Amino acid sequence: MSNNTISSTETLTNYQPEVIFLEEGAEAYLLAQKVLSLLPNVPRQSFQDMTTLTEQMRASSYDVFGQGKKILALSRFKGDFLKKCPGISPGMVCCNYYVVNLAKNCIYDCSYCFLQDFLGNNPMQVAYVNVEDLLGELEQVFTQYPDRNFRVGTGELTDSLALDSIVPYTASLLPFFNRQSNAVLELKTKSDQIENLLNHSDPTNVIVSWSLNPQTIIDLEEKGTPGLTQRLEAARACLEKGYRIGFHFDPIIIIPGWEEAYRQLVEVLCDTLPIEKVEWVSLGSFRYRPSLKTIIKSRHPDTRLFTSEHLPSKDGKFRYLRPLRNQAYETIRGYLKSRSDALSIYLCMETQEIWEGVTGKTPRSDEKLDQFFDL
Ligand code: SF4
Repeated sequence: MSNNTISSTETLTNYQPEVIFLEEGAEAYLLAQKVLSLLPNVPRQSFQDMTTLTEQMRASSYDVFGQGKKILALSRFKGDFLKKCPGISPGMVCCNYYVVNLAKNCIYDCSYCFLQDFLGNNPMQVAYVNVEDLLGELEQVFTQYPDRNFRVGTGELTDSLALDSIVPYTASLLPFFNRQSNAVLELKTKSDQIENLLNHSDPTNVIVSWSLNPQTIIDLEEKGTPGLTQRLEAARACLEKGYRIGFHFDPIIIIPGWEEAYRQLVEVLCDTLPIEKVEWVSLGSFRYRPSLKTIIKSRHPDTRLFTSEHLPSKDGKFRYLRPLRNQAYETIRGYLKSRSDALSIYLCMETQEIWEGVTGKTPRSDEKLDQFFDL
């Protein structure tokens, strides 16, 4: 395997892994067979134990996390798929929802990505192929709690769509969520891999959301990802197909000239799409655990993430100082509201004080969001 890292200008539109590692027994699953049929020329090796495989990689590379992105392990997930969003932590208000981890690690290489730290001991890119087990588990939970509304995301430990052309999870997820009466699927992405979505006939109960940043920040900090125009074109196509769409301005990164950069981002967004049809925009500022900082500086020496001062919050994560966060939220919220006063805007992973300072209310007092938070 090569030691090349992803350059800041290279966009991974036709990603193929350098090798597929196939866990013994995984080939019995339909999804594994599909992946192998879509990648007939990629070398494959079988393995029994992920830990041994990871140790072998660690011995052969100085950047195991980066190398982990170049391989694809197909494995069977053996625990419960559905989990409450881990963003709930002391002093934080979270966009309260559920996550299923179908895959981990990601083909892109954003400098701020928390996975670099979180997956430090287990950096292999893995796609779990036992989707039948996931759907069985979800069916059981949704039926057991018919009065709850479940909002389920797949993009916590990976990008929800980046691999969808070669690991087509949406082929199983979309028809399943189409049938639910109390659950919505959120696909969170920076990708433009929407072909399976456009080929599917029913957009019911599916929200696709894109993380956005000004192109300058994409160039600096989001290596390998599709550019702003590609993301917005993908969003427009999904909207036209009938999908509900949302956007995350997250992480907001304060660089010199950030006000103008985010003003232009809002202008481009609103000129590309009918903004009144967007479900919501969430805002979140750059945050990190102390252990991540060293990794970022070593893996991304050109980063501009640390040009401003950061202080620890109650949850132990470092954030921009509160007045600066407030100013960023108020400024960007103002740009968005000037284009659509009715647009729902919420803050992700922020304190109660910031929520009240910026929006004048807590999330529970917002009627439109109550349908998401009423769990
Ligand atoms: S797209 Fe998301 S998961 Fe992938 S590298 Fe960037 S931050 Fe990490």
